[in-house]
Amino acid sequence: MDYYSSQISRLIEHLSSLPGIGSKTAQRLAFHIVNMPVEKVQALSDSIIEAKKNVRYCKECFTMTDQELCPICSNTKRNHNMIMVVENTRDLAAYEKTGKYDGVYHVLHGAISPMLGIGPSDIRLKELMTRLQGDVDEVIIATNSSLEGETTAMYISKLIKPTGVKATRIASGVPVGGDLEYIDEVTLLRALEGRVEL
Ligand code: ZN
Repeated sequence: MDYYSSQISRLIEHLSSLPGIGSKTAQRLAFHIVNMPVEKVQALSDSIIEAKKNVRYCKECFTMTDQELCPICSNTKRNHNMIMVVENTRDLAAYEKTGKYDGVYHVLHGAISPMLGIGPSDIRLKELMTRLQGDVDEVIIATNSSLEGETTAMYISKLIKPTGVKATRIASGVPVGGDLEYIDEVTLLRALEGRVEL
């Protein structure tokens, strides 16, 4: 039964299709939004549309950016010979927050998962291998310590071996199954400093 007006129901439906938003939260958000001043609602919806229109992948590291090259890749002070491989842009942000890593990144946009049918060609691996043809001293594999993250790390290290580029894996200070984005900065730094060569 439709308790609300069909327009509120439609808003609730759209909101609850977002990750991490259950039906109760969606209802709360929907009522909050319809009670907001119309200018605020306009600004919110504009920011969604603008972000969607302008955000794209950095042509070098594939993080989300609104420029051709992200601020990290276009920064000449960063060490472009050291590439940290992460699963997504949120993990990159987690390492950036430590402020101690001065290399660049490569964002895979996922991890290999035979269970979910995600294979090596579904993530940005080919692009990583292309980058390794340039001047690269080390690839730090900082995928999550989940089964998928470990599978991906193993796969990448096998791919890199023949190229002669040094491949390292962040230390297991990161709890098993833990998502990088939820881990505190001290633990992330310890994991980075204690990385081991593969
Ligand atoms: Zn970039």
